[in-house]
Amino acid sequence: MSGAAKPTLRERLDAVKAQLTFGEVAVAVGLKGRSRDGWECPACVSDGTLQERSDHKGGRCTMDDCGQGFDLPGLVMTARGISVVQAAAFLERLVEEKKARGNPKAPGLFGEGP
Ligand SMILES: [Zn+2]
Repeated sequence: MSGAAKPTLRERLDAVKAQLTFGEVAVAVGLKGRSRDGWECPACVSDGTLQERSDHKGGRCTMDDCGQGFDLPGLVMTARGISVVQAAAFLERLVEEKKARGNPKAPGLFGEGP
């Protein structure tokens, strides 16, 4: 055994899930819709049936025949037809792109300060 311990797949997924929202991932995989109105479900391909959870980390399709639930990697896997390892890499790239665009939290937005 040598070298630094590589993060496990679970650790990689937990890290990206902490930094992305369902809407960001839905847009990245090309789903139609909006957080408020519902997204296109990648499982049954119905418009606006995929409702986002209030914590923005997952969603569930409201179609009776579908009812598929998704977390962030699950959404990528279903929408892109890729494995969980590929989905982890996809989400890590999204995080990198988000960081490259800069910190979205504008200072002073909520009036917090010393
Ligand atoms: Zn569905």
